[in-house]
Amino acid sequence: MSEVVLDQLPVTRLKGVGTQLAMKLARLRIHSVQDLLFHLPIRYLDRTRITPIGALQPNSDVVIEGDIRGCDFAFGRRRSLICRVQDHTGIITLRFFHFSTAQRQNLARGGKLRCFGEVRAGSTGLEMYHPEYQFLDENPAKQPLQQHLTAVYPVAEGVNQQRLRTIIDQALALLSDRSLTEFLEQDNAAPSLGDAIKFLHQPPADAPLDLLASGEHPAQQRLAFEEMLAHQLSLLRLRQAIRQHRAPELKGDDTVLLEFLESLPFPLTNAQQRVSQEIKQDLEKPSPMLRLLQGDVGSGKTVVSAIAALQCVASGRQVALMAPTEILAEQHRNNFTRWLEPLGIQIAWLTGKVKGKARERQLAMIGTGDAQIAIGTHALFQDQVQFHGLGLIIIDEQHRFGVHQRLALRNKGQHGQIPHQLVMTATPIPRTLAMSAYADLDCSIIDELPPGRSPVSTVVISNQRRLEVVERVRNACAQGCQAYWVCTLIEESELLEAEAAEATADALHLLLPELPIGLIHGRLKPAEKAATMSAFKAGEIQLLVATTVIEVGVDVPNANLMVIENPERLGLAQLHQLRGRVGRGQAESYCVLLYSPPLSAAGSQRLAIMRQTNDGFQIAEKDLQLRGPGEVLGTRQTGDVMLRIADLQRDGHMLPKIRSTAEKMLAKSPDRVSAIIRRWLGETDHFSQV
Ligand code: ADP
Ligand code: MG
Repeated sequence: MSEVVLDQLPVTRLKGVGTQLAMKLARLRIHSVQDLLFHLPIRYLDRTRITPIGALQPNSDVVIEGDIRGCDFAFGRRRSLICRVQDHTGIITLRFFHFSTAQRQNLARGGKLRCFGEVRAGSTGLEMYHPEYQFLDENPAKQPLQQHLTAVYPVAEGVNQQRLRTIIDQALALLSDRSLTEFLEQDNAAPSLGDAIKFLHQPPADAPLDLLASGEHPAQQRLAFEEMLAHQLSLLRLRQAIRQHRAPELKGDDTVLLEFLESLPFPLTNAQQRVSQEIKQDLEKPSPMLRLLQGDVGSGKTVVSAIAALQCVASGRQVALMAPTEILAEQHRNNFTRWLEPLGIQIAWLTGKVKGKARERQLAMIGTGDAQIAIGTHALFQDQVQFHGLGLIIIDEQHRFGVHQRLALRNKGQHGQIPHQLVMTATPIPRTLAMSAYADLDCSIIDELPPGRSPVSTVVISNQRRLEVVERVRNACAQGCQAYWVCTLIEESELLEAEAAEATADALHLLLPELPIGLIHGRLKPAEKAATMSAFKAGEIQLLVATTVIEVGVDVPNANLMVIENPERLGLAQLHQLRGRVGRGQAESYCVLLYSPPLSAAGSQRLAIMRQTNDGFQIAEKDLQLRGPGEVLGTRQTGDVMLRIADLQRDGHMLPKIRSTAEKMLAKSPDRVSAIIRRWLGETDHFSQV
């Protein structure tokens, strides 16, 4: 059997693996023998040597050997079986809360025992709970210790460590030079795939445990490289597939565009001009644009998206602009209406809350093409919505829409053509993340803020000094300034958050009776929200108590003070978004992070970063370091960036090389591409879901 290709060999071909076990293994995404080999340990135990009982330390994983000195029940809160084991250096207690009669009888008979397990401090001194054990007969040489470190695997219900180790041992026995296809060119410095796999399942007793624990051993790095390569290939292949479709060439005349630019109260920044140009060139091509537009909070992405929209409209095609939340969508609608309706452009509006007659009217405007631009939430992409020659989709992402959601939009084109796509991110994404999670998109970056912005000074203050902060608000408002007071909650409940904001508003009202105070949260009706926002914009409200709904979109230049309660509950990106609401005017701006002590170490580290920098890209990098990619992208559940071995933070430095390897491979050996993706992604391949 040594020459079989293991990726085709089902696990059921191994001894002791029937359909029952195979089903359980499938839960660990293990189907083939190859999958089993790629099911790598999360850590290791050293069972290569025996520790004298007298030298045991609590919280260590050890092997001990000794003679049974008694076995009895202990009646504490739970009945347990305890068994004393002694060697010439000391004595220790084994404790079992579950045991069979046979087990008890065997232990009671006495004899010499070898035990594996974790030592802890218990009621009788040092104890081992439920150790694995074996009886040693007269001749211990017949029962040698492990020669290599013992792997600890991720397990699932019904597949325990023992079981996995036995079948993985079998899989390793099948591993020969030819049985796992080597997809990478042999690099002299790196171990071969087979060697790396074998090493990681059974490292020699003297393997560097610290390197293995940090994932930096060459064997791990070899696999991490290949894993990231597989993800990269999956996204690049997806992009290739989409690029092969045709898209409408959006070459309209730019009279309206010039008119629009003329009407703006400001000139575009250089960065805005540059990225607008990049987008323009893409839109003129007959293959679909897939472009990510990045820029810090307040860098002016909306204008850029409006320019793209105008180019599309000018060539007789329709635009859809989708935002992740109602509030953000509304903000876009306000901007687009203000900017584009004077130019004779009709805008349709569709969210889940638009119902009945109003909904029919909006759907009709979209379907007939009377509306050249449709703005809304996910509701825009439900099946009933029929577009009229859709040429461009603009997606404003708060958290990342999954690759799959982006794909669903593709199908909204006509005549075999698919629309161009422009994806805007609400906050900057670290470069490594952008290179991996967004590898299917080209990237444009607005790296310049409009002139006249002053950096926001941020202070971190304990809630115990709340009254001083209230005084500060009083003084600022007395001088004609406006301020935000942001309430946060741990639970993601709109209702609770709204109640908390109401309570805070009441309390502030008592403390600051002279101030006109407004309240805004997600439970208010759109009309109420709009009324409050326009009163704040007009300066009729001086202090706006808000939930995090104002994180996105709100733009009031005269507001130059923001207090954020319990900022330690929020991620850095979200704090940065919130803070971006101030510092938009000429006056110096302040942000007060009003935390509830005690702060955890991580919490105070995060707040310190907010104090130190206003640069969204830097903050995003730190956020990635502190919280990991899933949290930063908001895709923890979707699994889009689920990596088994690689770690973007640790291994991101390999990405440029991975990218070029991926491009070469796609061009030269497409057959390998499928195999390598299957090996690492299996059914989670993006392309297979196209
Ligand atoms: P974001 O990139 O965060 O979406 P916006 O598009 O909301 O930023 O722009 C923030 C504010 O800056 C808006 O009030 C917008 O009108 C203004 N703005 C955009 N571009 C410029 C510019 N070139 N000069 C001055 N102000 C601008
Ligand atoms: Mg925006």
